Amino acid sequence: MKAMVLNRTCNLKEERQPLTLQEMPHPKPGVGEILVRVSACGVCHTELDEIEGRAPPPRFPVIPGHQVVGQVVEAGDQARRYPIGARVGIAWIHSACGRCEYCLTGLENLCIEFRATGRDTHGGYAQYLTVPENFAYDIPEIFSDAQAAPLLCAGAIGYRSLRLSSLQNGQKLGLTGFGASAHLVLKMVKHRFPDCRVYVFARSEKEREFGLELGATWAGDTDQAPPERLNCIIDTTPVWKPVVAALKVLTPGGRLVINAIRKEEFDKDQLLTLDYPQHLWMEKEIKSVANVARRDVAEFLTLAAQIPFIPEVQAFSLKDANMALLELKERKIRGAKVLMVD
Ligand SMILES: [Zn+2]
Ligand SMILES: [Zn+2]
Repeated sequence: MKAMVLNRTCNLKEERQPLTLQEMPHPKPGVGEILVRVSACGVCHTELDEIEGRAPPPRFPVIPGHQVVGQVVEAGDQARRYPIGARVGIAWIHSACGRCEYCLTGLENLCIEFRATGRDTHGGYAQYLTVPENFAYDIPEIFSDAQAAPLLCAGAIGYRSLRLSSLQNGQKLGLTGFGASAHLVLKMVKHRFPDCRVYVFARSEKEREFGLELGATWAGDTDQAPPERLNCIIDTTPVWKPVVAALKVLTPGGRLVINAIRKEEFDKDQLLTLDYPQHLWMEKEIKSVANVARRDVAEFLTLAAQIPFIPEVQAFSLKDANMALLELKERKIRGAKVLMVD
């Protein structure tokens, strides 16, 4: 089968073709697994982290891609959940052990055997991939394959970060950083918690305007003080300055949720400006978001169909994956980028 393959980590400033179109062995579904013929696969920032070595794959070659929509074409032994021909989605969580204390309590995202699609196993930048049937999702009919793909990552993780924020209707929520996941969170909040006021913190004027357009009460720069203190803030930035700024404007007992797979090192000295009484005292909390559990993906897909939330997509063919990745890196964003596979 054809796939876009990553053979080593590299610096995207120098290497403009990080993936190569290669013939790869046709995968076979194992026990409890399904074989899926890919029709669409979303392109995510995490792929940039994998390629540039911030979240490197443990083995090469690897096929990236973790927002996959396709059709079940074969079922392995003991796999009975989906009929042949069923449309399914596959997300970042590819599998977990199923036996540990985390797996048994719905926290399989924290399992020590957590494996990520497109990093620890081959992903969806390909014609086919396999996944345990219990780690696949029904896709609501309202979405086309291309529209469903980007919901499987940014949407699901945004949903998890909102869940972990413990936001209640009527409270005040801050969003620091306003990319794909944050703007989905704003839409979810408007639907589920109509009496909440949402404050957007972003460096770019364009992102702030976009936040206001989507119904934010206020938008300001990352370190600007909002007109009132906030119960929860979700941080989706890759840096430290917004963390310190956010802690300062939380209410007593407020919670900061950091939704980032890695933070960059260059502005870590910002943490030295932490002042305990201002930033942490009064029972303020910090929590990070790690991966997604299956519940987040399934619940978010249902919610997205109800809202309804139909993402804008920009389609590329599989062989143009490098172009899609470079545009993402250079922030040329006109809708979520999706590879169409035939
Ligand atoms: Zn486990
Ligand atoms: Zn992703």
